[in-house]
Amino acid sequence: MNKHDGTNGMDEWDDDVDLNAHRAKTDDSEAIDFFPPNYRIGRTKYMFVTGGVMSGVGKGVFSASLGHLLKHYGFTISQIKMDGYLNQDAGTINPYRHGEVFVLNDGTECDMDLGTYERFLDDDLNKFNYITSGKVYRIILDKERRGEYLGRDVQVVPHVTGEIKYLIRTKAQEGPYDMIVVEIGGTVGDIENIHFIEAAREMLYDEGRDNVMFSHVTQVPYNESAGELKSKPTQHSVKALLQMGVQPDIIVCRSAIALNRKVRQKISLYCNVSENHVISSPNTDSIYRIPTLLDQQNTAQIVADKLKINLPQRFDRSRAFDIYLKYLAKPHKTVRIAITGKYTDLHDSYVSILNALDHSKIKADVNLEMEWIDTSEYSDGRSMPTDLLDGISGIIVPGGFGERGAEGKIRFIQYAREHAIPFLGLCYGFQLAVVEFARNVCGLKTAGHTEFDEHADTPVIYLLPEQRKLTEMGGTMRLGGYEVKIKKGTQAYKYYQTNKATERFRHRYEFNNEYKTAIEDHGLIFSGMTPDAKIMQILEISDHPYFIGTQFHPELTSRPYLPQPLFQAFVMAAKADTGKSKNDIPQTPAQVG
Ligand code: GLN
Repeated sequence: MNKHDGTNGMDEWDDDVDLNAHRAKTDDSEAIDFFPPNYRIGRTKYMFVTGGVMSGVGKGVFSASLGHLLKHYGFTISQIKMDGYLNQDAGTINPYRHGEVFVLNDGTECDMDLGTYERFLDDDLNKFNYITSGKVYRIILDKERRGEYLGRDVQVVPHVTGEIKYLIRTKAQEGPYDMIVVEIGGTVGDIENIHFIEAAREMLYDEGRDNVMFSHVTQVPYNESAGELKSKPTQHSVKALLQMGVQPDIIVCRSAIALNRKVRQKISLYCNVSENHVISSPNTDSIYRIPTLLDQQNTAQIVADKLKINLPQRFDRSRAFDIYLKYLAKPHKTVRIAITGKYTDLHDSYVSILNALDHSKIKADVNLEMEWIDTSEYSDGRSMPTDLLDGISGIIVPGGFGERGAEGKIRFIQYAREHAIPFLGLCYGFQLAVVEFARNVCGLKTAGHTEFDEHADTPVIYLLPEQRKLTEMGGTMRLGGYEVKIKKGTQAYKYYQTNKATERFRHRYEFNNEYKTAIEDHGLIFSGMTPDAKIMQILEISDHPYFIGTQFHPELTSRPYLPQPLFQAFVMAAKADTGKSKNDIPQTPAQVG
């Protein structure tokens, strides 16, 4: 019988749970041990978060806010996202389908919710924080081939659910954490997420009722003509959850307006939760309000009571995003930023960029407004409306892949460079800034990028040498956090205030050093590079208010309390730019060769 180690006010684990029951590994036993070695039941408590009625209502933000809240009540917390799709990671999914691909320090390509968790927890996560069905099935199929299931038929229950539990527990032990918030993707009823909900149900049985709880995040629609919030869809989704053996402890209601007593009572009665466990989460102007909103409804205490633990300390309100709430309370001068990409009608594709800008606007004391420009419309020489960039004080060319929109992006980079508009090029934006500079400043008219011009005469950007022999797409880019050496005396150094930083990468192509001298001779400075100086990673132009490109993705490491320095400087430069007049949009693509 295992005992938890008694730290952090955790109770003794439920004595009824006999771990040995799960250790039997004989042919005729149904019980299989899915506990990592030395796992102690009760050391870590679990909160599973499911979604109801429809997706996209803010389950990720709720999970992250709950993690944030519990962390600032003194618990050690981590968060897991479980996604139903059979992709092993998000790296092979088009951002247009699921939003941005977020990259963790260890190189895991994952769902954008992990970005929200990192920002709200202010912590670096890793591959154990992200579980997809593809990852789980991969583990199982490999084990089956190695004969590790000892002659058994391999089944969804207990093997798939067991491997899921094993991964969750492995994360728990890694801390060890007091609590893990586990978000189950999609909505209750999705076929592809059933095994996750079943694994969560089993965990309640395995670990005991004091160690596992459930929150259900659901949409409560507002019927305008009747002027009423409707609880019926929530009742149905909770029924669907009950059919799977899960009774939620907390129901979080996302709605246009705050819940009134009547709706609370209805949801309470029909869904078997006490009234004060029905949490109201009305639409708000900022996600930074959510932790406070949860705190006002006593959420941390509800969790602590259910899991029979004490809150280790009072809520550290100074970390409750108070600077954002203060910022929201007063008006600010508006600065307009153009984001040029090809997924401009799905803003979730650029969610970390939007967050990094959000973090930077506080110190700059400005309000930022985005102008979304689809560069594929301007890649074929089509003329641009002359007022397109009127009032724009900064241009961001984000990361991207492939040919579509690339020449259009080059036109915007040229415009930013020639009109002294603050410019920040991220990954693909860095690479295209090199192409633009080579063509239009260095006179290398045929300069190209082999991603969209395989046989370019002057390949200023080409495949990383280690990429040339690869045939597989998934997980094969240069991925994750690497050190960047920053040159003293440069703009980058001024912003970073240090000569090295760890930044996150996701690319196959790089600058071709054969053209380094030609390009530097014309005034472009490579101010950041790998410590061995082989891969160029930051570029800048000195006679420009702000012209910086990064081979990495600085947006991924910006945090609410620590804006990424290059973003902060970009927003400052954009603020300084406001009011200047701009005209002369180049009417032909920069491509000459
Ligand atoms: N397509 C480019 C590369 O693979 C840029 C990638 C990116 O912007 N993330 O190198």
